[in-house]
Amino acid sequence: MKIVTVIGFCLMASSVVFAGEKHAHESHKHHGTHEHGVAELLIAVEGSGATVMMKSPTETVFGFEHVAKTAEEKQKEAKVSEALKNELQSVFVLEAALECQFKNTALKILGGNEGHRDLQSEWQISCAKPLTGTQVEFKFSKLFPRIHELRVTLVSDQKQIEREFKRGNGKLSF
Ligand SMILES: [Zn+2]
Repeated sequence: MKIVTVIGFCLMASSVVFAGEKHAHESHKHHGTHEHGVAELLIAVEGSGATVMMKSPTETVFGFEHVAKTAEEKQKEAKVSEALKNELQSVFVLEAALECQFKNTALKILGGNEGHRDLQSEWQISCAKPLTGTQVEFKFSKLFPRIHELRVTLVSDQKQIEREFKRGNGKLSF
């Protein structure tokens, strides 16, 4: 229950920031950062499951920040959105023995028709075995070559840690 509250709070806090001040560049300690090239990942682990939330400027995920206009831009946006919905397991790689299932539960764009926009997405992961003591491997550069830095916050009943991964690649233990 505690973990769910933390995520709820972060979602709420970032929505408020983006509704009020689209151009605000927050300190990178807070959820609500808008820095091109940066993606934030919040992972809440609970037993044999996890909730993952990703937030990043649309500039960084799609390659452009404005509302898609040309056929090429629309195609790019559709392709990346499809990958976010169905391919997280190829960039957020969990140990095969855990037999995890990924489900995308939210995908939305925050911000108006002009100025800075962010993509926010959420997944539910459920596995056959507990995640504690296992590892996740990040391979975000595969799908998102524009990510320079992946800022990860991991919350579980054991720990809360923050790490930064250059180019969105690296390993982290639960
Ligand atoms: Zn921007």
